Amino acid sequence: MQDKDKKILPPLADMKSVYLHVPFCARLCGYCRFYKLRPTNEAVDLYLEALEAEARFRRERGDLQGPFDTVYWGGGTPAALSEAKLARAAEILGLQPLREWTVEVAPSSINKSKLALLKSLGVNRISLGIQSFSKKTLSALGRPHPAEAAARAVDDILSVGFEKFSVDLIFGVGGQTLEDFRSDILAAAGTGASHISAYCLEFENGTSNCPGRGKTPDEASREADFMTLAMRLLPELGFRQYEISNYAKDGCECLHNRITWAMGSWLGFGPAAASQWGASRFKNPSDINAWADMQAGHTERKFEDVVPLDDDELFSSALIFGLRTSGGVDLMRLKMRYPRADSERYAPSIALLERENFLEVSTLRNPCGYEISKILRLTEKGRLNADAVAVELL
Ligand code: SF4
Repeated sequence: MQDKDKKILPPLADMKSVYLHVPFCARLCGYCRFYKLRPTNEAVDLYLEALEAEARFRRERGDLQGPFDTVYWGGGTPAALSEAKLARAAEILGLQPLREWTVEVAPSSINKSKLALLKSLGVNRISLGIQSFSKKTLSALGRPHPAEAAARAVDDILSVGFEKFSVDLIFGVGGQTLEDFRSDILAAAGTGASHISAYCLEFENGTSNCPGRGKTPDEASREADFMTLAMRLLPELGFRQYEISNYAKDGCECLHNRITWAMGSWLGFGPAAASQWGASRFKNPSDINAWADMQAGHTERKFEDVVPLDDDELFSSALIFGLRTSGGVDLMRLKMRYPRADSERYAPSIALLERENFLEVSTLRNPCGYEISKILRLTEKGRLNADAVAVELL
């Protein structure tokens, strides 16, 4: 986004997004924690039929009124659908976001014609799940695409004219060395991408191996080395770290994610899709049949993981997710936004995290000595231990 656009953006917390979960993948990767299944004709037809019913339900409730700032199609692999089915999904939702429409694709799931179709629908950002350019790392991950597929996918994205695209990289894979990861970072930066995400490998059992969590000290320190490499090298290549795992060229940050981290509103469609909408946060059933039965009215409309959104919940989430961003959080602004939150309960943890050099606090006072802003930001040590910081604050 250009500077002129930045000036007219409303506050992120006031923005609205739609997330569509497309749960289909040609091959199911063992390490993946997302809800996914194979795209059989029967499953895809069931999906589109249930999506239509879900969109109708939301439309009747008035939830789809007014403009949305962003739309994000994730998965799964949305591009595992045929062109006709992708067009049908877009038609069902009938949304043209104001600012950003991202679709996740895998190198082996796209070609020029499918990308041209996405562009014609209004998609203006592609997120390409490359994970690695190294044959060794890809085969350790059991990834379906050959290393050469990434280069072809990048050529197709550029030739179709997408100005914004993101490349996902993964680290912490068995056998992957720091040198391997350095080569991946250089190759990703060399594609012409405007955005790079670098994630720790996470296993399906939910064990995160981001530095420190559920790991031996040796493993945690090895993964911290990977993260440190990304945090040092990517900025040298022109990609600013704007969140723990995300780096972008100026103005190319993912707006959709920024809205969710700032506690804006998002409405999820599809099985396993999460929403933060109205007075609660909730999730659709993580099973296509249970979700479709619910849309067809065969079962009660029952969501999973329902969390009421009061000021305490929103303050806590905005603090924890905001701290993961390079801009940090302004405590004064959070207190004004969520005045009924018990914000004082965080004071001892914030003081401890500052003393231990996980956090830095900058306070701005007016000429009368009153605090007008208090910005909390993670230090490098804090960014390497973001999960531990979150646990301390919870
Ligand atoms: S990692 Fe991507 S391609 Fe593999 S199963 Fe998960 S969503 Fe599908």
